[in-house]
Amino acid sequence: MKLLENKVALITGASRGIGKSIAEELYSQGATIIVTYKENSALAEQVIDIDPTKKSGIYELDVSSITSIRALVEQVKNRYGQIDILVNNAGINKPNDFDKISDDDWDEVLSTNLKGPFMLCRECLPLLKDKTSSIINISSVSGQYGGPRTTHYAVSKSGLLTLTQNLAIFCASRQIRVNAVSPGLIESEMAGAAKGLGVEEKILLKRMGKSSEVAQTVAFLASDMASYITAQTINVNGGLYF
Ligand code: NDP
Repeated sequence: MKLLENKVALITGASRGIGKSIAEELYSQGATIIVTYKENSALAEQVIDIDPTKKSGIYELDVSSITSIRALVEQVKNRYGQIDILVNNAGINKPNDFDKISDDDWDEVLSTNLKGPFMLCRECLPLLKDKTSSIINISSVSGQYGGPRTTHYAVSKSGLLTLTQNLAIFCASRQIRVNAVSPGLIESEMAGAAKGLGVEEKILLKRMGKSSEVAQTVAFLASDMASYITAQTINVNGGLYF
């Protein structure tokens, strides 16, 4: 029996990067995956191609739009009836010096990285099964100690950690577990700019992480092996921050 057999997992921003790895890992552990994308439908199609049963599905979603969230939740309800694992992974970064961050960029980053997960969690609560389901929010080491040129991003990710704790308190009576995973520098488009700038020197393990290493942590947290873990942040950062 696989870790996540008979579970339905909704992963936001799973067309590429860390979200794609999370979708693949949850699928390999037995889950049916619901992959969402914002623009890259072709990439999202490729992700669910791994499922020959065609039970897995792809859906367009803009997490900053309540209309888009409600449309997704309605479709998921009609097709799957339930959600066992919700992974809030979709996120954006718009690096800039503090005094150059525009109001529009601030709003876009906060509404994608923080308000989006808040709205999606709220709307998904009726579909989450009591006792066995789990929410995992993908934060960032930037939310723990800040980051260069990313005040709005850091604030959003820090807020996501607080959201995780508050939602865990709210969901405890239903025995729904809520945790955050906080990746450090992971090889990806988002962290590409940091590669080769000597940042590896600051990491205890002297290398950037792999998206699969984040994904394995998410699978663990989603599984019954983590049945006594809630309201926690698990750092996957190679010792960059502790
Ligand atoms: P990518 O930029 O590679 O992928 C972002 C994903 O989010 C894509 O699937 C994209 O869809 C989707 N997306 C973007 N905007 C929206 C939106 N408004 N609504 C719904 N989906 C959206 O990101 P990463 O894989 O690098 O990062 C994934 C998560 O991990 C993020 O939350 C990020 O903050 C966090 N993280 C990343 C680190 C890193 O080093 N990369 C480090 C720490 C945390 P589409 O393809 O259609 O555009």
